[in-house]
Amino acid sequence: MKAMVLDNWVKNWGSNLKIREVPVPAIASDEALVRVDWCGVGGTTSNFMKGLLASGAGILPRIPGHEVTGTVEKVGKDVRDFSPGDKVAVYFYLFCGRCFQCLAGRENLCENFAGFVGIHTDGGYAEMIKVPSRNLFRLPGSLDMRSSTVISDAVGTPYHIARERAKIVEGEHVAIIGAAGGVGIHMVQMAKLFRSVVTGVDIGHDRLTVVSTAGAEFTADASEKGWENNIFEFTGGKGADVVIDFVGSEGSVHSGISILSRRGRFVEMAMLPEQRIVVENRKVILSELSIMGSRYCTRQDIAESIKLVNDGKIKPIISEECELEAVENLHERIDERRIVGRGVVKLH
Ligand SMILES: [Zn+2]
Repeated sequence: MKAMVLDNWVKNWGSNLKIREVPVPAIASDEALVRVDWCGVGGTTSNFMKGLLASGAGILPRIPGHEVTGTVEKVGKDVRDFSPGDKVAVYFYLFCGRCFQCLAGRENLCENFAGFVGIHTDGGYAEMIKVPSRNLFRLPGSLDMRSSTVISDAVGTPYHIARERAKIVEGEHVAIIGAAGGVGIHMVQMAKLFRSVVTGVDIGHDRLTVVSTAGAEFTADASEKGWENNIFEFTGGKGADVVIDFVGSEGSVHSGISILSRRGRFVEMAMLPEQRIVVENRKVILSELSIMGSRYCTRQDIAESIKLVNDGKIKPIISEECELEAVENLHERIDERRIVGRGVVKLH
């Protein structure tokens, strides 16, 4: 089968990914072989390809890509819930299903976590992928496979943030930093679905226009000095009840915490190496701030996300698609913030 393979960590975008003929993966008794229709292209995969998420021995060479939709081709002998022909999406954390966290429905915190599809096992930049059948979700026939690529990360992750971590309450003010990115733009819609008032923070007029169209009442341009003051203006001097940071830089963390209201919740989403969250104890105590992280989502979050997209409550925003051969170029443009929302690569 045809696949895009990463042999070395990306230093400069160009031709790091190589198209290659590789064997169709053999499946174990609890796994399924899925014919990939589409695979999402976004910042997490870019960061992996640069070696920012995992860089240990045994990772490369690797076929990247984790936001897969496709059709079940074959199942192992112990698989009962899926059969060839089923349209599916893939949950990309390799969880055990037996530990305390998994049994509590928190597969994202699995104590025997075995890694990510597309990082620790081969991913969706290939004609076929194998995954444990417990990682599969059946997609209703009413959903199209292209837009469904966003469900397993770009919609599921915001749902987890809104419901489990930030616990957004109707009428609260939510500021989203990096609001025009693949996950950020769906976070804007999700925060609106939770009936909050949203400010989208990003860079440049074009990106902020898309953020407004996605539902944000207010926008702020982070390239303008003093943009933080806008948040206080929008909230009557109070500050944001919830700040969600998809950028993860020193500046975004500092600004994000500085715009919190009393009892504000700051949710960090960008996992970059060496980056630290620095905040004065005094500020955390006197304003009763909560500083938290949010990690991917659970299988329940995905099941709910499928329903939200199928019901038309969240509209997938995919602004560009490409063939497998052009996927590295799409990564480059996403990294340079030349693309709003998600990209996708077409496999079949
Ligand atoms: Zn587990």
